[in-house]
Order: sequence, then structure tokens, then C-alpha cells
Amino acid sequence: MMQTKRRENLSGEVQYFAGLVRCADCGSALNVSYDYNRKRYNGFSCWVYKNYGKNRCTSHAIGWVTLNTLVLNDIRRNAAMAAHFEKLYADMLRRAKSESAQNESARLRRELTKAEKRISDLNKILNKLYEDYALERITAERHKSMSEVYSSELSELTERCKQISSELSKSDEIEDNISSFLPIIRKYTDLHELNARILNELIEKIVVHEKEKSHPVRVTFFNWSW
Ligand SMILES: [Zn+2]
Repeated sequence: MMQTKRRENLSGEVQYFAGLVRCADCGSALNVSYDYNRKRYNGFSCWVYKNYGKNRCTSHAIGWVTLNTLVLNDIRRNAAMAAHFEKLYADMLRRAKSESAQNESARLRRELTKAEKRISDLNKILNKLYEDYALERITAERHKSMSEVYSSELSELTERCKQISSELSKSDEIEDNISSFLPIIRKYTDLHELNARILNELIEKIVVHEKEKSHPVRVTFFNWSW
């Protein structure tokens, strides 16, 4: 946990990636190395590898400049997409949700629409039934037995709608996140330099994979990774 605290170097400068860069294999923070002679950061490597050696993890080394360039370019790429292709970009964020979660929420929405239609029909039926009873078209017993059947279906469906709505509120959160994220990311199409405020505003974590893997660095914007 100490590794993830924001620390300043000797010149009082905050290492703005601190706490954001993680090892893909062991999950620990990457350790940053600082060159005191040249007064600059050299790069990152896995904290567990550095402290416990190759039996526990591998180096996951990445240069400071490399990571800076990758993250800066990724922010600009995302900003440009959000600025110029808002709908496509928002769709891409949605797709980043697992497909099964999307299918499930689509299924729930269909079920909800159907249940709401049935509830509206049931209310009409119950009103009509009462009208028939009031106008003595049906007997009191008939009215009682029929309205019991419909009323119990109505209360069951009303309960189910509440359940569905609460299950769907999770995907609404994602919609809310997307609509609040778009105006933020859009601002950075011409970003030239990273700083702690911007990184914390946009990025939840940066996961560094070992070299041979196809995706050496994955940046997670809020809850989306690519
Ligand atoms: Zn590691």
C-alpha cells in the first residue's frame, strides 16, 4: 500500500503516474526508478520482481518516456474519437461492457416492456370487471373470483417490474458514466503534456504486461479497458 501513495522526488515534483501503474501478472504497483544525476525518471518495473526476484514475477519494465508517449497518445486518440465521432465512441464504450451483460439487460428491458403492457391491460380489465359488477352484468361471486385472479397477477407483475428496474439500474449507471465521461475526454484532443490532475480525472489504472504479450500496456478509462 505504501507503494501506491503519491510520493515526491527530491525536487518536490510529484511522480504523476504513482498509484496508477500496475503489473498485469502479480497486480502490484510498478516501482519507478529516478536518475538523480540527470534529474529525471528512468522507468518502471514490477515492485514484487524488484523485491522478491524472478521466482515471484518478471520485470515488466517500461521506460518513462515510452509510457508517457503511449498514455498521451491514447488520451488524444480517445479525445479525438469522442470529439468527432461521439456516437461511435459512446457505442464503443458500451461494447466494452461484457457482451453477456448487454444481452441480459436487453432481455430485461424486453421483459419490462411486456410486463408494463400487461399491467396496463390488467388495470383496464379490473376496471371493466368492476363496471360489469356495478351494472349488475355479473354476480358478486363472479366479480370476486375473477378480480382475485387478475389482482394476484397484477401484484406479482408489479413486484417483478420493481426487481427488473433495480437490476437495470446498473446498466443505467454505465449510461450515466458514458454521458459524464464524454465532455471530459473531449477536452483533450490537443493535450501536449500529462499531469497528475488529468491522469486522475481520466484514468483508473494502467496495466503493464510483460513484453511478449500482444498488448504491452492497457489503459483503463474509468471502467473501460482497451
Ligand atoms: Zn509483477
